[in-house]
Amino acid sequence: MKLSGVKHCEATLDECVAAAERFATRGDNWHNHVLKPDCVLNARPGLYALVIENNTTGEILVCYSTVNHIDAEQHIVKLRHGDAILCGSGATAAVSDETDQEPLLDRIRALALEQTDWHHHMYFPDCVFNPNPGQWSISLEAQGQLEDVDLVSADEPFDVLREIEDLFFSGERLKRDG
Ligand SMILES: [Zn+2]
Ligand SMILES: [Zn+2]
Repeated sequence: MKLSGVKHCEATLDECVAAAERFATRGDNWHNHVLKPDCVLNARPGLYALVIENNTTGEILVCYSTVNHIDAEQHIVKLRHGDAILCGSGATAAVSDETDQEPLLDRIRALALEQTDWHHHMYFPDCVFNPNPGQWSISLEAQGQLEDVDLVSADEPFDVLREIEDLFFSGERLKRDG
């Protein structure tokens, strides 16, 4: 399912951040996505799409933009998953036993090392984009193509996600700040 096939409202960045804060405070079932310009889910190539999806109310807000709002995205990711999701060091210090044998992580570590352009999607079980509805899944894209290393899980893959987010934001900051 691409974003173009999903009913959504366009919003400003401030409106998206305010909505995420409101949904978090209210305890709604919500999450976010950032669709990069070359993302296979993106309906408008050339633009970033910051998506706030509320599965309690059915609202989907989208901020289209020529720039990636990394700071807002980090704020929203922490609202959703708690501060622990981002240790912010980029060092990926605490690699747990469960994440050691994970093909998805191995692939991402390799891509990050060679500084290939990549991004991931974390799908909550009820996410409208989820290719495996009812289960948690994480997919990976590199250089505009889906990679065949999906993680599918009955439980929230928090440790794997934490390492991915760390690698992802380290790479994004490197690209932004040089
Ligand atoms: Zn994508
Ligand atoms: Zn979603």
